[in-house]
Amino acid sequence: MRFFIVFIISLSALFLVGCQTNPVTGETEFVIISPEREKEMGADYAKEVEKELGKSVQDVQLQNYISSVGQSVAKVSHMADYGFSYKAIDHNSVNAFAIPGGYIYITTGMLKQMNNEAQLAAVLGHETAHVTARHIANQMTRDLMINLGLTAASYRVPTTALRVAGIVAQLEGMSFTRTQERQADQVGLDYLVKAGYTPNGMIETMEILERQSESKPIEFLSTHPSPENRIELIRENIFNNRYSTSGKVGAEEYSANVIEKLKQIKPQQQK
Ligand SMILES: [Zn+2]
Repeated sequence: MRFFIVFIISLSALFLVGCQTNPVTGETEFVIISPEREKEMGADYAKEVEKELGKSVQDVQLQNYISSVGQSVAKVSHMADYGFSYKAIDHNSVNAFAIPGGYIYITTGMLKQMNNEAQLAAVLGHETAHVTARHIANQMTRDLMINLGLTAASYRVPTTALRVAGIVAQLEGMSFTRTQERQADQVGLDYLVKAGYTPNGMIETMEILERQSESKPIEFLSTHPSPENRIELIRENIFNNRYSTSGKVGAEEYSANVIEKLKQIKPQQQK
């Protein structure tokens, strides 16, 4: 019992133990990682992502564009002041993901598949929603609890366990539940529309992923459930919320800032 108390005290020094209100659902939930702590961890992780997964794309115009589209979504999100970061990394996989702390990445492989700004905003909106709905913090809390249960001999486990495993392994291990994915689609769609884009961007993105998955397995799908029934749910959402489909598409902007830029950039060595 005494060990347990020491253990809990140590844990609360590392993380903020307790119940927090989820900004998206409004529900109180037990999360041992505060948004602030998540941000600190994210800064370390971000360095690892660019080392292990793919280098940041070396084009200022392209990066500024990705960032500005991302920020337009972040601005209307439940955590407008959180300080989200949006970046393109050089990798052939068709993927987009969020790591702790609001660092959101999209691969060149994914960027090449899309053809307008609304689709880009949809992907970034979906990933932003995983952060605001605290899916990542919840997932990490769960993983930490598992780690702690297995190796309770040391109360230092939380930090070391997270550092020992490589970031790539951790990302692969971090899969969201179907419910979390549906929530990210729904909340991301809301951000997309609030940011002034057509909700069709979300449907088109799912269609692109669906076409991709017919020819080869893609990474985005390994952690994200099949787009088929997601498309239906998104259509229902657009109808039920009476979202106007007249928002921005931005095909020309996307072509000038992404497609044309990617043609000029020499691909870096894949890892
Ligand atoms: Zn997702």
